[in-house]
Amino acid sequence: MRTFRITALAAVAALSAQVATAQEKFITIGTGGQTGVYFVVGQSICRLVNRGTAEHNLKCTAPSTGGSIANINAIKAGDMDMGVAQSDWQFHAYNGSSQFEGQKFDKLRAVFSVHGEPFTVVARADSGVASFDDLFGKRVNVGNPGSGQRATMDVVLNAMGKSDSDFALASELKPAEQSAALGDNKVDAIIYTVGHPNGSIQEATSTVDAKLVNVTGEAIDKLVADNPYYAKATIPGGLYKGNDEDTETFGVKATFVTSSDVDDDVVYTVVKAVFDNFDRFKGLHPAFANLKEEDMISGGLSAPLHPGAEKYYKERGWIQ
Ligand code: GLU
Repeated sequence: MRTFRITALAAVAALSAQVATAQEKFITIGTGGQTGVYFVVGQSICRLVNRGTAEHNLKCTAPSTGGSIANINAIKAGDMDMGVAQSDWQFHAYNGSSQFEGQKFDKLRAVFSVHGEPFTVVARADSGVASFDDLFGKRVNVGNPGSGQRATMDVVLNAMGKSDSDFALASELKPAEQSAALGDNKVDAIIYTVGHPNGSIQEATSTVDAKLVNVTGEAIDKLVADNPYYAKATIPGGLYKGNDEDTETFGVKATFVTSSDVDDDVVYTVVKAVFDNFDRFKGLHPAFANLKEEDMISGGLSAPLHPGAEKYYKERGWIQ
């Protein structure tokens, strides 16, 4: 009897020790709208992380959010651990410039960059919009507050000496709503800084006759020449119905960011899950197909690398 009791107690003690070590740690990744590519980035990273939960106890979720600016602000507030953000907004958040004037986020850390994101304008064919300048006087969805496109649109307008008031309407619908608004003739054009192909532009061009519009000219040339986080970009023809020609514009990179407050081993585990399974990751969205490790750990990153990411890149011999 006595022996049994001791054994039972030992069993309980062993069990609670097991529960303690197996305690899962939850991490959250900020993404974007469900019809964009950030949502797929976050979901894909989490899928790879969660395959290894039994070993590392990390459990990852990637909810839909308002986009770049919302993600950076959520990481800064400690509400999210990591997130996807455009390279221009990573730069401005870390340097306290543009929309982040007076709100420098010193603890922002870069992890890696992902796909390119051309600044994309889609207009109804019956709107008569054939160039960016034609948008003035029209009804334009400039993007939801908190999104990268809303903020980058402001930069573009500013560079042209224009503002929202130069449109007949400047609506702020989310990516998931804007394609339907274009189809229903509630707006003449929509703006989206996004990887291609994506569900939002696919929906827009398949519900109504709609054209991708070139975004070129002196103001754009100057933006690209003056700022390291912008580059000229081409959206290849043939990706969307009725759009067989290439579209010329400029763009940024999607980047994966975190805070220096997030533990090194957490960031290391996430980075390892992605790069140890890189072929699988690249297969999860066509916008990831041509990603190369060496570009991902240098291009588009202006905040310092997080030490957890740095540790993995050193182990792989990718950095010194
Ligand atoms: N670039 C957009 C943003 O920063 C998001 C694009 C996407 O969701 O793929 O808000």
